[in-house]
Amino acid sequence: MKLKYLLIALIFNIANSNPIQEANENITSTSDGAPVNASDDLPMDILTNIAEMLGSVQTQSTVQSEPVFPDCSILSEEIKEEVRSHQHTVDRIINYLLYGQHKGLTYTTLGKFLDAFGPRMSGTEALESSINATLEAARLEGFDDVHTEDVQVPHWVRNQESAVMVEPRVKTLTILGLGSSIGTPPGGIVAQIIVVRSFDELQAVARHVAGKIVVYNQPFDNYFQSVKYRTRGAVEAAKLGAVAALVRSAASFSINSPHTGNQKYEDGVKKIPVACITIEDAKMLQRLTDIDGLEVFVNLSMGAVNLPDATSRNTIIDWRGTSRPEDVVVISGHIDSWDVGAGAMDDAAGCFISYHANLVLKRLRLRARRTVRTIWFTGEEQGLYGGYEYFKKHRNESENYQLLLESDKGTFNPKGIGFSGSNTATCIMQEIIKLTAKLNTTELKTRGGGPDISMWKSIGVPIGSLHLDTSKYFWFHHSDGDTLEVEDPDILDRITALWASVAYVAANITANLHH
Ligand SMILES: [Zn+2]
Repeated sequence: MKLKYLLIALIFNIANSNPIQEANENITSTSDGAPVNASDDLPMDILTNIAEMLGSVQTQSTVQSEPVFPDCSILSEEIKEEVRSHQHTVDRIINYLLYGQHKGLTYTTLGKFLDAFGPRMSGTEALESSINATLEAARLEGFDDVHTEDVQVPHWVRNQESAVMVEPRVKTLTILGLGSSIGTPPGGIVAQIIVVRSFDELQAVARHVAGKIVVYNQPFDNYFQSVKYRTRGAVEAAKLGAVAALVRSAASFSINSPHTGNQKYEDGVKKIPVACITIEDAKMLQRLTDIDGLEVFVNLSMGAVNLPDATSRNTIIDWRGTSRPEDVVVISGHIDSWDVGAGAMDDAAGCFISYHANLVLKRLRLRARRTVRTIWFTGEEQGLYGGYEYFKKHRNESENYQLLLESDKGTFNPKGIGFSGSNTATCIMQEIIKLTAKLNTTELKTRGGGPDISMWKSIGVPIGSLHLDTSKYFWFHHSDGDTLEVEDPDILDRITALWASVAYVAANITANLHH
């Protein structure tokens, strides 16, 4: 069907029907309100934790509700008094960052770093160069121990890619291939598209899928619900004979911006190319294909290749403890990013607050009883490779781990700390963040953690993260929009101050936080 009929149909609101609408009448429940299925590529506890920390709307079937706040009358006056005795030190940290010599430094050094290295995808020279520069800087600063631990990471390269709607009119679609996707043959694939809003809809039109490009136009109720189409969209389409898949970006806002991310093939299922498209284009393709009899064709061309695994490194920077140096408090982020934007909020900023928090302690000569360890994990985006490697290597030292914190949900206006630990540890953490009233960061959320440290929770080690306003996180996530412009110098100072204060006090108190 050609454009002329399309225009007539659109303008004059001519009644129509199509296979999907017919099929929908036979579906008893669609994606809306249906239980959220877990993504296949991560263990459930980690997915639960990630979903929670990202502030996703949860369904009972997958995610436990936030634990109730414990009755903190269990806490002795001695412990409270010991925590309160750190008020003067915390004030020094805050003053140094908000009004003193460190004011603005987290932001300005982050900017220079991003300008120098750009995005830092696993397997790239840029990632390894950025790690080398950091090691050199940390050694020049005189940290006690600066070293790396090797991590094998996937090496996927995007290369040239494009998508053009060729029927019923010519329109370029803005795409980003998804991590680990194969490429198309030279010249690309030209095929008719079929648009679905959910896996249920896909099953309902199963007999129409072979030979076509499946377009997922799933709504964004929350990231957890939406991202499963990015992760499994290609596999589910390929099972029905599709030749490629295009997935609406898992984003809460769009200025025609595609948001990339990882996807996963399944053994025994044909690998087909898969890319994300913008919300605008997904909805347009939906409207066009909703018109009875209108056939929409897309030419998808992707040069993506999967190269052999590469060696990257977790970066470890210690400010050693005085009386219990073998015991550690970890503050962390992941330094790898996608290959678009600058990977600023995801997650160079998380790394920079973790570096500067430790640097502030060092420059103020604040040595706690325990070691404060900054970790920049690597290979997070392709599947938490750095986090798993660190856990594998160090889990048998779990008795030495007082607390692990990771910042990986942006560095927006902070409200406090998200924390997962025992009741006693939760009450102690609440006492600790009361010391940061000047930062307005005294809210304790009873769930926290980050993707690279999630696994520690299962062996009784407390984990935490920033509790902050994440409402704009998915505006920028994995897109060209994730640049320094997302960051704010004053907010970064407040977050670094919070991070340094919590790390120092947790590292210095006599009580153990782990189970
Ligand atoms: Zn991240």
